[in-house]
Amino acid sequence: MLVANRSNGERLSLGASWTKEELVKIRSNDKFHCPQCKEEVILKLGSRKIWHFSHLAGSSCESRYDRESEYHLSGKLQLYNWLIHQGINAELEKYDEQIRQKPDITFEWQNQKYALEFQCSVIPEELFVKRNSAYLENDYIPVWIAAESLIKRKGSFTVSMNQFLYLFLRQPERTWSLPAYCPITKQFVVLHGAIPLSSRKTLTNLQIHPLSTCSINQLINPVAKPFPMLKSWQTENQKIKSRYLMYPGAQNNRFLQDLYLNRLNLLTLPPEIGLPVYSSPFIETPSFIWQAYLYLDVLRHYKAGEVIHYPTIREAFNKRLRTGDILLRNLPASGERTYLYALAEYIFLLTKVTFLTKIDSGTVKVKRELCLHGNYQDAVESAAEFFKRFQNKIEEDFFQRHEKIVQSVK
Ligand SMILES: [Zn+2]
Repeated sequence: MLVANRSNGERLSLGASWTKEELVKIRSNDKFHCPQCKEEVILKLGSRKIWHFSHLAGSSCESRYDRESEYHLSGKLQLYNWLIHQGINAELEKYDEQIRQKPDITFEWQNQKYALEFQCSVIPEELFVKRNSAYLENDYIPVWIAAESLIKRKGSFTVSMNQFLYLFLRQPERTWSLPAYCPITKQFVVLHGAIPLSSRKTLTNLQIHPLSTCSINQLINPVAKPFPMLKSWQTENQKIKSRYLMYPGAQNNRFLQDLYLNRLNLLTLPPEIGLPVYSSPFIETPSFIWQAYLYLDVLRHYKAGEVIHYPTIREAFNKRLRTGDILLRNLPASGERTYLYALAEYIFLLTKVTFLTKIDSGTVKVKRELCLHGNYQDAVESAAEFFKRFQNKIEEDFFQRHEKIVQSVK
């Protein structure tokens, strides 16, 4: 940590510009304590690591979870100085007595309090959730910035994100965003958009912003950037399906058996099953699986012209949640919304691709039945035709959500 209390209770912040001589002198005449647990801490003024305070071995302080690496300490200092240079009143490691927490940096911007955490190590999910809600309850907007080293790039539009990283996912105005920072390259790496393919693999648009040219506004209010995601979506889904068939785990096996018992084949499912929807991060189960369950449980039982009530769809989905066939994700940093949005968006998208017609806010009608192909080649050709025909509609819908309709279906 970079801040400790002196024996007279004053804060000593290493974010200020001290010389080594000054600090050595203070250290020889004084003792320092952790503002959080009050235990004594040691001021380390070595030449290899950034100067910092350190708890003694065996400390039970909560900050023990934040094993402070050089990476973390220097990132925290850089982000602090970045805010100060923009004229923002920021404080390093200010201990908030009320919530008994010590965000890496607190600052006020446009009359709003922010708690910024540069998170480099994996902390237990409950601790993340606890800290996040304490900030919200005390009028801070939490800004969780991940260490860039936690993000694994897989391709130009794909990354691997574990559940811990999903905890960071924010949802400012009409976009998913996950900010990461690297103190070595001094760059923000921001994930714009998040479209989960499997429980880890995610489609996103990675944008790099050097710290020197990035403003606080870009960090707090990132602008959604549409990217050509449908092509990658199709390719990646195909790969994932093939892998499922080759190595089905217990969970997938149950799904594959469900398909088999209903004379369906994973590789020849109609293209309407497995479409990308904006709120899909709320659901951990891959889209083609939860959408296939909706098809099995509800959609296929209706003929053209028949009416489906939205609660029937929701109930079928909830039943699969109860049996564990569909799993949700916990997204504590993303605001109030839930998986119900993903469900509503999917039904709405099915009206855009002319499978359903909207009757009113809670009712749709089947317009045509889905084409089930017996062989792989026919299925591939029909999918190619489908995506060619509806590509614009699907992408447009994805990037400019139709709030009103989504609201009404909820
Ligand atoms: Zn402590």
